[in-house]
Amino acid sequence: MNKYVKNLNRIEFLVTLACTGHCKHCSEGDHAGFTEHLDGTCAAKAVDDICHVYKIDSLMVFGGEPLLYPEDVCKIFEAGKKAGIRRRDLITNGYFSKDEKLIQEVAEQLAKNGLNRLLLSVDAFHQETIPLEPVMAFAKCIQYTGINIELSPAWLVSQDDNNPYNVKTREILKLFTDVGLGLGTGNVIWPEGNARIYLKDYFNLSKEYVNPYEDDPRDVKSVSIEPDGKVLQGNIYQDNIIDILENYRPM
Ligand code: SF4
Repeated sequence: MNKYVKNLNRIEFLVTLACTGHCKHCSEGDHAGFTEHLDGTCAAKAVDDICHVYKIDSLMVFGGEPLLYPEDVCKIFEAGKKAGIRRRDLITNGYFSKDEKLIQEVAEQLAKNGLNRLLLSVDAFHQETIPLEPVMAFAKCIQYTGINIELSPAWLVSQDDNNPYNVKTREILKLFTDVGLGLGTGNVIWPEGNARIYLKDYFNLSKEYVNPYEDDPRDVKSVSIEPDGKVLQGNIYQDNIIDILENYRPM
């Protein structure tokens, strides 16, 4: 087995960069007009292939807004469940439709296909461009299915800081905790993408910030598959994922 990926235990799918939000803290920068998304069947095959060789503990699906493509997302979770991956997470802003029937159907399909934890991004930044009502409707539908749902806000500077964004975030979170939703730790914004432009006054840009999500390239524990199929030095649309993992070399 390739020594650089022998400890692989997590698969991530960045399903799309298309999004219903336009957040000023978004680490992906301005991605307006993006429409490309990962094919669910191909992604599911990658999950299946990887799990035949590696012991995968965790599967994560995120975006952009991944629920713009719910069928593809469900195929990924179905494959993860079949392969016995214990932890199957989705990060979403909760806004993909205003149609209550569709919102309910998507929640039911996610439950049926094996999603077991949903991290809901709600805070002052998301709610500048994303309406609360459909997000709340979706959260309640997820709650009803029994999927574990956790509020996952973005904090500016730190969770305890009392800047105006964090104050607004606490007000928004209260609306959700009042209906029984649990609050997770969320994350602290780091200066990348839009945050580096629109929130620069909150950072010391002469200091080096370390991206908390970056893996050691000589000991890859997590692979992230992009909307166009790219992963490490290959592409799941052209190559078998096991060959991609075997041929990987750190640059
Ligand atoms: S932070 Fe999330 S919801 Fe906001 S624009 Fe970026 S991807 Fe979309």
